Amino acid sequence: MTSASPQQFASDNYAGICPEALAAMTAANDGSAVAYGDDPWTDRAADAFRTLFQSDCEVFFVFNGTAANSLALASLCQSYHSVICSSSAHVETDECGAPEFFSNGSKLLVAQSDSGKLTPDAIRALTSRSDIHYPKPRAVTITQPTETGQVYTIAEVEAIAATCRELGLKLHMDGARFAHACAALDCDPADITWKADVDVLCFGGTKNGMAVGEAIIYFDRNLAEDFGYRCKQAGQLASKMRFLSAPWVGLLESGAWLRNARHGNLCAQRLVRQIDDLPEVRAIFPVEANAVFLEAPATVLEALAALGWRFYTFIGGGARFMFAWDAQVSRVDQLAADIRAIALAEQSLAEEDKAIDGARHVAPEPLCDAEC
Ligand SMILES: *Cc1c(COP(=O)(O)O)cnc(C)c1O
Repeated sequence: MTSASPQQFASDNYAGICPEALAAMTAANDGSAVAYGDDPWTDRAADAFRTLFQSDCEVFFVFNGTAANSLALASLCQSYHSVICSSSAHVETDECGAPEFFSNGSKLLVAQSDSGKLTPDAIRALTSRSDIHYPKPRAVTITQPTETGQVYTIAEVEAIAATCRELGLKLHMDGARFAHACAALDCDPADITWKADVDVLCFGGTKNGMAVGEAIIYFDRNLAEDFGYRCKQAGQLASKMRFLSAPWVGLLESGAWLRNARHGNLCAQRLVRQIDDLPEVRAIFPVEANAVFLEAPATVLEALAALGWRFYTFIGGGARFMFAWDAQVSRVDQLAADIRAIALAEQSLAEEDKAIDGARHVAPEPLCDAEC
């Protein structure tokens, strides 16, 4: 796809680099700097996280979310341990077994969940066995917001964390779109992480406007012991680390991390608002972050694709639209207009068919009396 093509919303990873992240990357490209993270940009980025979270957290930078999740979970587990996740969790459905691989076999215990959210009850159900034959539950991972765009409230995170404490489990948060959850809840990042008793957060940079990169944040520094070695062994230690860390300085110090997420969330709202009266088109999941999943007759989705719109249907069972920092409002409106036009045309076609059918099969009964 060239930049001249009209914008698409199939994935928030279609977006480019936001100006703040790019400017910081360019600023970091000034002469030479010490390699492997011992540079001023990396210190400054880690400090920016400590300021944002009001916490003396330990921060690591890796290239992508699969590595961040897998390595963070591996750091919590021995090979005989298990990790409780929702059935729609990215770690379960979209990481090609990396969490099990990097933990040398820690098993994912999958809780069936219609909403995508884990609950204290679901966690309890998977920890009912403690015999030697069962992979010992050691950690819980929740995705904030979920893969289908729902946001755990502060109270929901706290309830899960309390259950984890009670059961002796560590709590990991997959925050590939963490900024979108903060924007949706309008809360401090601390409120849904360490203040709620989350142990480790993977904070997504890629879907927040960076070219590449995620941060792994340990609120309990003891859990981060030797984590740097784990990153290096996994091929996730950037030699020119400043180019992974500087964009975070740009995002965090300017506030772009939150502005970007707010914009994505608003665009998702803007789309559903314009189509929520259509009888045949329905948002399958509550629209709380930057995702919209639409259920519509196959003919409608085919017509939408024929107009050139791209979307995935293998996640969540509907047509998925994701809005990134760069979503153009006019394109969002164009998408809404196209969905409306197609759905309404389909509807009037269906009504015409019905009318023709009705005319063919003239009712044999006599005209009804006053009772009808
Ligand atoms: C995108 C995403 C990730 C990270 O994916 P990578 O492609 O490995 O960067 C992790 N979790 C969730 C929920 C995601 O949506």
